[in-house]
Amino acid sequence: MKMSKMFVQTLREYPSDAEVISHKMLGRAGFIKKLAPGVYTYMPLMWRVLKKIENIVREEMDNAGAQELLMPFVQPKELWEESGRWEVYGRELMRLKDRHDRDMCLGPTHEEIITSVARDALKSYKQLPVNLYQIQSKFRDEIRPRYGLLRGREFIMKDAYSFDIDEAGLDKEYQNMAKAYKKIFERCGLDTKMVQSDSGAIGGSVSHEFMVITDTDAGENDVFYCNHCDYSANSNHAISNLPDAVVDGKDYFKETKVIDTPNTHSIEELSKFLNIPDTLILKSLVYIIDKKPVIALIRADKAVEETKLMNAVGGIDVRIASSAEIAELMEENGFDAVPGFIGPKGMKNITIIADETVRNMKNFVVGINITDKHIVGANLCDLETELEYADIRLVQQGEYCPQCGKPLFVTKGIEVGNIFKLGTKYSKPMNAVYTDINGKTHPYVMGCYGIGISRTAAAAVEAHYDEHGIKWPIAIAPYHVVIVPVNIKDELQMKVANEMYEALKLAGVEVVLDDRDERAGVKFKDADLIGFPYRVTVGKTINEGFVEYKVRETGEQEKYTPEEATQKLINIIKAVK
Ligand code: ATP
Ligand code: MG
Repeated sequence: MKMSKMFVQTLREYPSDAEVISHKMLGRAGFIKKLAPGVYTYMPLMWRVLKKIENIVREEMDNAGAQELLMPFVQPKELWEESGRWEVYGRELMRLKDRHDRDMCLGPTHEEIITSVARDALKSYKQLPVNLYQIQSKFRDEIRPRYGLLRGREFIMKDAYSFDIDEAGLDKEYQNMAKAYKKIFERCGLDTKMVQSDSGAIGGSVSHEFMVITDTDAGENDVFYCNHCDYSANSNHAISNLPDAVVDGKDYFKETKVIDTPNTHSIEELSKFLNIPDTLILKSLVYIIDKKPVIALIRADKAVEETKLMNAVGGIDVRIASSAEIAELMEENGFDAVPGFIGPKGMKNITIIADETVRNMKNFVVGINITDKHIVGANLCDLETELEYADIRLVQQGEYCPQCGKPLFVTKGIEVGNIFKLGTKYSKPMNAVYTDINGKTHPYVMGCYGIGISRTAAAAVEAHYDEHGIKWPIAIAPYHVVIVPVNIKDELQMKVANEMYEALKLAGVEVVLDDRDERAGVKFKDADLIGFPYRVTVGKTINEGFVEYKVRETGEQEKYTPEEATQKLINIIKAVK
């Protein structure tokens, strides 16, 4: 490709709405063009990168025994009603009507469609197991599309679905996919960590996410991990052992009584006022889960992990209650306390979930639904309320590994893929069954396996860049090499550049010749910004028979004859393929 003909426009500035590196770099280097929030055109350079990632994914999925198909992007409501998701899927599901007033949606994921495809075709145990996948654009009307390709509304995903006769079959395929994923990300030049993650409220399910670890804002997930053993988990699923803490307040409170605690709206104010450690305070928080209020109780030095809380009550949507909703709840229960003084005592018709930390608290302090008052020296029996216990605690750095007891560390991660044991979550309600050897029918045991293709490309930029631009890993770079003649009016320079260009092309190296009539500095800047892994500069040194060879990743520079440089590049690219 000649640079003068290439459909690319690099910009002097980063896009004004770009907050993270990959969005800034991909925007400025002309890889993506925004059409609407979270909706981008993949320009030719970007499309080359995406196709390379897709092909790596294809090769490894095929190697692992999966088969590719392509399902429709627009889906009818009926299948989503069969699975029960039409009602419960939130506003991320883009719903629309066709000309006959039929309800449709844009595919955010394809469990319903694949299950319906399978149930019509996979009738006998003899046909199983099967793993089917596709690579396709998805649409999710994300509440906060941001970070460019990392969280788009329209984005490219590889989604695979496996069908097995039993759990043992699913286990095997799950491991098979985990292995394939590891290879895929390695081939893309990405270091990933496979971490345990939340799998929703369906009991017994297992899921793992593949995280690109990063210290930038682009990492939307907190990952807790242990340096001594293999434990690592998304914060929405992580558990830990706690350091010792004061949990019995008998040295502070000789008797159980209600006392005045004026203006102690926060835990900090309350512990200061009473001069006690916050481990002696039982914190009561009101959440709204699936439109209903729920009270969460936790030792006050700890925080609630909302996904864990949501799963504890089997919900699918969670948020903290507004002050108006708390006021309403108070009124319904005959109280008028303001936030800061809420407590479980006397609350009726409401689910109360207590974290495991609450179990061994003694002689503690808790709100009793009267403004400016708390009860001190209280015990669980004083609450006079039925509590359900669950682990709803957010793990914090400094706590200990649940497997080996050593300290846990936290880091940020970008989820580029996940694997998920679905079990019969879809096959059962959709009556997708096979017949066993005895003629009995059973729902398929399913798994699903996603990879964000466009997110992986952006994550690769987050992991490989410097202040000058992108440093594409060779396997997914849009082109392998750029040749820069310093002065296109210099006959010898152009002759050598052209010869190298033709020789490399012939050998299957993806090469760009920067034949623009621009200053060398401009061309170098663009080359660094776009992130070609190798650059060959043909300048004045060609008069002594040398070109300059430069590696983008390491900055390493060498002088070679044109023939040496050509051969070296051919060898490098051969090794990648
Ligand atoms: P997230 O928690 O980041 O929203 P998810 O759990 O919704 O991801 P899945 O539904 O399992 O993700 O989708 C599979 C993969 O698709 C994810 O691992 C991720 O790489 C990618 N993906 C999901 N949502 C988006 C998005 N809005 N933009 C780009 N890629 C996405
Ligand atoms: Mg999501």
